[in-house]
Amino acid sequence: MAESKTKITARKIDVNGIVQGVGFRPFIYQLARHHHLAGKVANTAEGVSIHLEGPDERIEAFLSDLPKKKPPLAYIDSVHLMQEAVEGRRDFEITLSRSFGSRNTLISPDVSICEDCRREMFDFNDRRYGYPFINCTNCGPRYTIIEDIPYDRPKTSMHPFKMCARCLAEYNCPEDRRFHAQPNACQDCGPHVSLLDNKGRAVSADDPIAKTAQLIQQGKIVAIKGLGGFHLAVDALNDSAVQRLRQRKHREEKPLAVMSPDLDTIATYAHLAEAEKALLTSIQRPIVLLPKRLPEKLAFAVAPRNHYYGVMLAYTPLHYLLMNHGFTAVVMTSGNLSQEPIAIDNQEACDRLKKIADYFLVHNRGIYLRSDDSIVRHAAGETRLIRRSRGYVPVPVFLRQDVPCILACGAELKNTICLTRGKQAFVSQHIGDLENLAAEDFFKLTIRHLERILDIAPEAIACDMHPDYLSTQWAVSQNKLPVIHVQHHHAHVVSCMAEHKLQGPVIGLSFDGTGFGPDHSIWGGEVLLADEAGYQRVACLEPCAMPGGAAAIKEPWRMGLAFLHMAFGRDIWNLELPILKLTDRAKAEIILDMIAKGINSPLTSSLGRLFDGVAAIIGLRRTVSYEGQAAMELEMISDGQAHGTYPVIWHEKTCTQLDTGAFVKSLVEDIQNGLPGFITSRKFHDTVIEAFAGLCTKIRKKTQLNRVVLSGGCFQNALLLEGLINVLKTKCFEVYSHHQIPANDGGLSLGQAIVAASAVSGKTSEVN
Ligand SMILES: [Zn+2]
Ligand SMILES: [Zn+2]
Ligand SMILES: [Zn+2]
Repeated sequence: MAESKTKITARKIDVNGIVQGVGFRPFIYQLARHHHLAGKVANTAEGVSIHLEGPDERIEAFLSDLPKKKPPLAYIDSVHLMQEAVEGRRDFEITLSRSFGSRNTLISPDVSICEDCRREMFDFNDRRYGYPFINCTNCGPRYTIIEDIPYDRPKTSMHPFKMCARCLAEYNCPEDRRFHAQPNACQDCGPHVSLLDNKGRAVSADDPIAKTAQLIQQGKIVAIKGLGGFHLAVDALNDSAVQRLRQRKHREEKPLAVMSPDLDTIATYAHLAEAEKALLTSIQRPIVLLPKRLPEKLAFAVAPRNHYYGVMLAYTPLHYLLMNHGFTAVVMTSGNLSQEPIAIDNQEACDRLKKIADYFLVHNRGIYLRSDDSIVRHAAGETRLIRRSRGYVPVPVFLRQDVPCILACGAELKNTICLTRGKQAFVSQHIGDLENLAAEDFFKLTIRHLERILDIAPEAIACDMHPDYLSTQWAVSQNKLPVIHVQHHHAHVVSCMAEHKLQGPVIGLSFDGTGFGPDHSIWGGEVLLADEAGYQRVACLEPCAMPGGAAAIKEPWRMGLAFLHMAFGRDIWNLELPILKLTDRAKAEIILDMIAKGINSPLTSSLGRLFDGVAAIIGLRRTVSYEGQAAMELEMISDGQAHGTYPVIWHEKTCTQLDTGAFVKSLVEDIQNGLPGFITSRKFHDTVIEAFAGLCTKIRKKTQLNRVVLSGGCFQNALLLEGLINVLKTKCFEVYSHHQIPANDGGLSLGQAIVAASAVSGKTSEVN
């Protein structure tokens, strides 16, 4: 190919990032041929290495095309160029990968079936017609099937399947879409599905997927093995079937996710804006929160008392084949008992789910690592992750600078772990609430697995300060590495800073339900001056009793009484309030006694508990069946129009404290004057927004800090998030909120890791 008159040079190009298992080498091969360049490309431990020979201007053209034309799943982190000796190559070749000592390669997440594969699967003349495991280099499973790296078939759960001659020919052909697609398979050589009853016996069916569709249409509950684990599927139009699923799964009211075949079908039961359409059809295919269309079309039991549905499009070929049987929507909820991790193994699923599912649609492609569906919503102009898992993990958060290797153990609820390496922070998939042995096992397994496939040996372990968290206890029990305890709300703020590559100090608003404070009280409505190395608590909500401790989280009426006690003392029985009419007086007196005497009533400055208390006082919610339910319903009933705010009074104590009693008094006045919940709820939200935006202005005057970071579970509340962003921006603040990782405790491990990295590096804080 070399032209005799032009000067031929050679260049070595190392590309780092997510460039393996995503069709990158065939792309390089085709790009090199397009530019008439000779050379070779190979996988390396860091990514891919390219040797190019040809005229300079052609190499330049190649380099300029590289980032522009890269495959959809590839992510280029860096490109390094070096001059090399000309070898006199005549063509371009792809060299096979080998094992490497170091493992800095990035692994791609599991993504939805691509359009090409979908077309083939529904093409009667294609050899993979109707094959539920069709995939190519642009789509299919990755993270959940990898046991070790480099990412090659023997190191994946595809290793038992020997490719047939036709599949192998595709696999070896650089021009083919399936060139080096490790999960490549067809019905002759690849995995297959089978249907079982709940005793584990095979159910004979010519087409197990068609039979499954029929069973679901008859109201049966079918456990279906998917990409990252089992789903429990039931017809979302069949209320009694959905209720039966709820009873069997012990899930009272928490909304159930549904799957639909296409956007047009979704539009018949939910409102869809362009942003939501883009999220639904993205390769990650998360569950997207969508406002319900009224009257509700899906069964009431799908999302009772909620204004939203959690909806996803089909994302595996198997889902597409199933949804092709005329469904509007099928409930697809995690295949687990309440609070336990999602089941992934066929036998394990049959054992654990036999009391819930009537049938099991299983397959014989193993899942090495479970990964739940991700949950997102669009709010304040951005994608907000509520649960970051399948489709997003293990794409790292890219950091502003190199950090030491740290393992961060996350929170107790919505646990994730985080491992850091260089400029990358890997936040794991959603592990869940560490409240049982199964979840704890999954936590340990995820740590081991990620350490192996990322080849990270941590120098230190970061954990929460709460001594009772299982994740903290595990960290402390390791005994080998230094353990760094990170304050919960500091970790929240730093996680958001890390996402935006911010160097402190910043003003951090850290709002959530519960986090251990160094004063041993429960924090959760915190204003911190923070950098990566430390923080100073400058303000919080005035601490309020939580009568009964954890019981007050499940029973917001207790928080209602506690806030009324703050505002009025014990003299509350002449107030005309729904909460008091509905509460047994003798029982309430016991609670008031506990508050007054401080018996089993820890103090909390939590904003989450204030939302609970207000929801209880206005008569919206006495008890909850899942975390955050009261606050969520309070947000949902709020009026679209502003109606003013309640008085905001700050007291100077150990730190500045918001007088919650003062505005609870005004709220009670409104209720007694007959103001409906949609107005009082809106006024309450606007009061919180005004109070903290005003406080930020005061802090700016004193400190000159102009950047405000919003983090913590309360920022899943779109009204609060949008309101604070808008008001702060009109006051000319730079405002930062989460969009790569969740604002809730699912993002905590990232902040812990960065705080610990800073401690290991011996950095000192500017703010404490
Ligand atoms: Zn494909
Ligand atoms: Zn085959
Ligand atoms: Zn938190």
